[in-house]
Amino acid sequence: MTRWSGYYLHTTREVPSDAEVVSHQLMARAGMIKKLAAGIYTYLPFGWRSIAKLSAIVRREMDAAGAVELVMPSIQPAELWQESGRWQRYGKELLRMKDRHDREFCYGPTHEEVITDFVRRDVKSYRQLPFNLYQIQTKFRDEIRPRFGLMRGREFLMKDAYSFSATEESLDRVYEAMRNAYCRIFEACGLAYTVVEADTGTIGGSSSHEFMVTAATGESAVVHCPACGYGANQEKAERGEWTRPPAEPPAALEKVATPGKKTIEEVASFLALPKEKLVKTLVYNTEQGLVVALVRGDREINPVKLQNALSGVDHLELASEERIERELGLPTGFVGPVGLDEGVRILADRSVAGLDDFACGANEADHHLIHVHWQRDVRLAEFADLVLVVEGDPCPRCGSPLGLSRGIEVGHIFKLGTKYSEAMKCEFTDEAGGNRPMIMGCYGLGIGRTVAAAIEQGHDADGIVWPLPLAPFSVLVVGLSPNDPVAMAAAESLVAELEGRGVDVLFDDRDERPGVKFKDADLIGLPVRAVVGGKSFAAGQAELSLRHDRERISVPLAEALPKLLELIDRLR
Ligand code: ATP
Ligand code: MG
Repeated sequence: MTRWSGYYLHTTREVPSDAEVVSHQLMARAGMIKKLAAGIYTYLPFGWRSIAKLSAIVRREMDAAGAVELVMPSIQPAELWQESGRWQRYGKELLRMKDRHDREFCYGPTHEEVITDFVRRDVKSYRQLPFNLYQIQTKFRDEIRPRFGLMRGREFLMKDAYSFSATEESLDRVYEAMRNAYCRIFEACGLAYTVVEADTGTIGGSSSHEFMVTAATGESAVVHCPACGYGANQEKAERGEWTRPPAEPPAALEKVATPGKKTIEEVASFLALPKEKLVKTLVYNTEQGLVVALVRGDREINPVKLQNALSGVDHLELASEERIERELGLPTGFVGPVGLDEGVRILADRSVAGLDDFACGANEADHHLIHVHWQRDVRLAEFADLVLVVEGDPCPRCGSPLGLSRGIEVGHIFKLGTKYSEAMKCEFTDEAGGNRPMIMGCYGLGIGRTVAAAIEQGHDADGIVWPLPLAPFSVLVVGLSPNDPVAMAAAESLVAELEGRGVDVLFDDRDERPGVKFKDADLIGLPVRAVVGGKSFAAGQAELSLRHDRERISVPLAEALPKLLELIDRLR
């Protein structure tokens, strides 16, 4: 029997000063987590129960989908990361360390290298494929801005799975099985979520989906089409065709003085032109040298799309003023595509393809060009979809206006293809006796982040409102009169009866005033509550309620058990 008096559950009214989102505030106040250092938390017993319940759901669905559990080391040798090429590429999120022999290691932020290394040593033949291995384990990523408690920690729990196949069709089948398993997991948790297309980022690969729990505080922007169901995260979202403005008779190119006017806003107002008639010129630093990107003045470049369009570029950042001056000999703020050095690669978003009378920087300090005309004035750029999609843009599938909302990315699945198996020579012999790299997939799910997301979706002004499947306990039995042994004995036997029926119960047997007990009950948010004691007990009754509507029902004590079982059933 879990008695609160002997449990370790300390609620507090104090909100940690760094707790910006409600899930972080409530997890701290409800005694679920305790911060040790930035982004590093202890899972206290009450929080760990929720984590354990989610883990059990995840295991059940992974096993049902044919995945097999194992646990890999969290400390990983640098050599494997050098083989895959990520030792250089991963950057500062990778926590690197040395052992006493000066050998380099990292704390695993993900496990592609480790798994590919042992699979290549064990598996040789197409007959041993496919398989899918998963673990639930601690990861470390030295996040630039750890925040929101478990939502973006540095040390955090992830379920990660890796599949190995002989053919693309086999990968497609495993991927589909994982996608369905993820849907069942988030449904089983009682969460509102969407599945969206995602960019494959530094992990690489051909196709990827994210699972987003809808929440206003989510860090991810999600684009969706209410008409056809297209969904993508904003990094990935494509924009449908631009309607071309009507062709304008080309006016003569003209250079105008725009002293000190550098930003689009300044130039637009100075020239009395709408921002749509300006072309914004951005200079990026890449390992292939400087790259110029063009977008319509009222829109933003999506750096992820630009990076993908450049292919082979791993790092992209806006070039500094000094670098632009030094390498292009041009003043920042006045750069434009007309007459730009032939050696510089120019990519243009499709938004500017239809503009035939636009203004842009003149490549001369304090000057802009107006009446610029493609072909006549500018060497042809490479056109691509580079724009950051915004609300109302046309859907790339059906053309209807797109919506934009926020979400918490709780799961992410990738078709990796042969990226790691080629780099690390993880090969098998096919039916014809030839050697081929295995075809991989990887499937991540944030355990702590999902629990936090459940609280973002389930709370009110007084505390957490748990969905039953993730609640640390299903029922709270409140012993309202700690000094009345008869009432406490009745409460205790109700707890025992519930436990006898397989229900997990927290028994509030603390020597506290009713007001404290009720406040705490609301804060910790267990779905079903039974109050035994006080006036109602004197009348032979127990008071039952559900956390989400708090409607109280009085029942004779003898009927409390069946009624509670019925209430629990209703929440399932
Ligand atoms: P994000 O874009 O939020 O940083 P990611 O794309 O880096 O996420 P993945 O590498 O796909 O994340 O990891 C798989 C899952 O692990 C994510 O979907 C998320 O649920 C979880 N996760 C990733 N980073 C963190 C973190 N810092 N804290 C908690 N959970 C995380
Ligand atoms: Mg990340």
